[in-house]
Order: sequence, then structure tokens, then C-alpha cells
Amino acid sequence: MKRILENIIEDCRKWTSKGEVASYIPELAKANPEALGIWVTNLGGEEYFAGDWDIKFTIQSMSKVITLMLAILDNGTEYVFTKVGMEPTESGFNSITNLETHEQKQPLNPMINAGAIATVSLINGETADEKINRILNFTRKITGNDEIGINYNVYESEKKTGNRNRALAYYMKGNGIIEGDVEEILDVYFKACSMEITCKDIARIGAMLANDGVLINNERVISREACRIVKTIMVTCGMYDASGKFAVHIGIPAKSGVGGGIMAAVPRRMGIGVVGPALDAQGNSIGGIKILEKLSHELDLSIF
Ligand code: GLN
Repeated sequence: MKRILENIIEDCRKWTSKGEVASYIPELAKANPEALGIWVTNLGGEEYFAGDWDIKFTIQSMSKVITLMLAILDNGTEYVFTKVGMEPTESGFNSITNLETHEQKQPLNPMINAGAIATVSLINGETADEKINRILNFTRKITGNDEIGINYNVYESEKKTGNRNRALAYYMKGNGIIEGDVEEILDVYFKACSMEITCKDIARIGAMLANDGVLINNERVISREACRIVKTIMVTCGMYDASGKFAVHIGIPAKSGVGGGIMAAVPRRMGIGVVGPALDAQGNSIGGIKILEKLSHELDLSIF
């Protein structure tokens, strides 16, 4: 397995020069565009890795999986999906027009920015601090990594430049989709996106999802039913407006982030974390997609 992963990383390096690191959040532009790494955690607890698996990067939109799970734990699926839809989108992850055209004025799904801002607003906690601490602790528990924290440089950078997210949030507040203090909700959202992780951490989250909501130590984190819903939404919406192509070519529930990470959950087999900060036009890791494509073919991982 280690050999397979090493060969795939070497094969995919050439792709990194075809993408670009995210620069709309200025701090992310400092990432190394050539980095490429993978970590695999299978459900027997064995772990394999190759390439730059140990670089730290921010979780970005992969946090949307975590905030969706927490919003479901706090409110139940029925209530959560009165505030956010479960339909894929052909627009970008930060689309504004989507919000206006959808009939109920709900964000289309929890894997795009508007949807995640809505799920963050549903997370329990008296204060913004309490909410982000619950998100951090939940992430630490699933990954088994107590050291996960926030990259404050990225957080400040997002907060300073996140006016599009601000527009989405105020629009949703105007339509009664979110309640409470908008700036406080955004602050929690920016911090959740700025959690610093490695491939190993995201592979562990993927493994829990692959294992129907149960950690390697047999502790249940979310119900089987909630886990099924989260994975289904990852298949249909996790790679934004490239989700259909990803499902056809790779066929694994996955979620990307503009930090260059992709979290993947192969049901009943393994969790996979990949990183490659150079992104394609949709904001997905260009090398990361290639790695998953090769691995899916090599190990026959498609669920379809
Ligand atoms: N924090 C980023 C944003 O809000 C997350 C987007 C992403 O990873 N696609 O724009």
C-alpha cells in the first residue's frame, strides 16, 4: 500500500503546476503550490501515508462537514433541513445569485458557503467562544488530535476580506434563515474554516464517516442515519459545481477546501486525506483530485 501511495504522489506531482493557490484570502497565497501528500486510515486502524502528508494547512470548507454534523446533533436533521436545502449547485461555492433564486430563500446545501454559515448559526452555545470551542472539541475528538487549534493569521485574513460571506449572511438574516448576531456567526464560521490540520486528521474524520459514525475505538459520534445523510450530501455537493464529474470519475463521498485539502470516506473501507494547495477553477485541489482518481481506480473504490 505504501508503495502504491508513493507512486501515485510521484505521478501526480506534474499536475500541481496546472493549478493556483487560493489568493482571495491573502494568507492562503503563502502555501507551497507544489506540495502534495496523502494519509489513509483503514477501518482496521492501519494507517499509510506518502509525500507531504505532514504539512499543516487550514481545513477551510472541509469544516462544513463538521459544522453540519454538529448542527444535526444539536437540532436533529428535520429542523436543520428547514434552514438549508440538500440540492447540488452548478454555481460556485460563494454564489450570491443562488440564494435569491431558490424559492424558499434557503441556501441550496450545507457544503457551500451560505449553507455552512446557516448550519454554523444553528450550533448551540451561549457565546461565539462557546460555539467555536464546541466545534474545536468535536474536531479533536473525531481526529483523536487534541492539539488542533486555529491559525489566527488565516482567520484574521479571512475576517478582513470575507465581505462576500458577509453579504450572504446578512441576506439570509434578512430572510429569516439565520437568527442572532450576524458578525458573531461569521466569526465562528471564519474560525471554523481556519482550524489547522494535516492529512492525517482529515483521513481520521473520513474513517469515522466510512465507519457509519463510529470511531476506531468503537465510540459512536453521530447516528448511522445522520452519517448516511452527511455522506450522501458529500457525494452530491462536496466538490461544489464539480461534484457530478467527481462522482463519475472517482465515486467516493468527499469534501474539499480552498486550503488544498480533500477529505474522502470510502464506506466500510477507509478514510483518506489528501493535500495539494494548487487549485483548479472550481477551488478544488488539482493534484488532490488526480491522486484520488488514481487511487480509486487502483483499489476499486467507487461506490457506484
Ligand atoms: N473560508 C472559505 C470561504 O469562506 C472557505 C471556502 C472553501 O474552502 N471553498 O471562502
